[in-house]
Amino acid sequence: MTMPTRNSSAPRPHRKFFHKKKFCKFCNDSNLKIDYKNYILLRDFLTERGKIMPRRITGNCAGHQRELTVAIKRARVIALLPFVVSEG
Ligand SMILES: [Zn+2]
Repeated sequence: MTMPTRNSSAPRPHRKFFHKKKFCKFCNDSNLKIDYKNYILLRDFLTERGKIMPRRITGNCAGHQRELTVAIKRARVIALLPFVVSEG
């Protein structure tokens, strides 16, 4: 009788940080359009403080990150400045 050799000492790297998938969401999904009116989508790319997340975190390509930045800035402007200022 031989003892079953247990060779389960293979190193199992413990992932300390959640690794976000690094790919451009917009290149991946052609249905996804960057639109300043689509604030729900834009919100995903803002930090809790309302800052635009850097590309290294979002994984966006340069082109789409740029579009996104423009859209977010536009959305901000619209939120800040109402179209019609009603006078009392
Ligand atoms: Zn892209």
